[in-house]
Amino acid sequence: MNSFGFSINKDNVIDYENNDRSLAEIVLAREPSLYRCIQCGSCTGACSAGAFTDYNFRKMHLLMRRGEIRLLQQSVDKCMLCGKCQLVCPRGINTRNVIRQIRLALLKLN
Ligand code: SF4
Ligand code: SF4
Repeated sequence: MNSFGFSINKDNVIDYENNDRSLAEIVLAREPSLYRCIQCGSCTGACSAGAFTDYNFRKMHLLMRRGEIRLLQQSVDKCMLCGKCQLVCPRGINTRNVIRQIRLALLKLN
């Protein structure tokens, strides 16, 4: 513990070339509306889970695209499937089904 009132985050290296991005391919094939995402962040601003945790749909989408499976696993279960993100999405993305498909694909990985 330090006494300076702050801490330094651990390094986070994204090994994009070696990460397994097959999960993203599966999810995008099952819910192609996600291709329309423009990363505007409206979903994140409206998120019920994000009000109480560090959960963030936009970040989760990025983690999936980068193949950062371990971080994705830590994040995706925080979603409560309330659907507010879907209501505000300007691109009409079926965000709840995206989350559902990620969870199903992760179950098959384990
Ligand atoms: S609101 Fe829709 S378009 Fe915007 S970041 Fe979220 S999923 Fe993507
Ligand atoms: S469905 Fe999940 S990601 Fe969307 S607003 Fe609700 S808790 Fe957030």
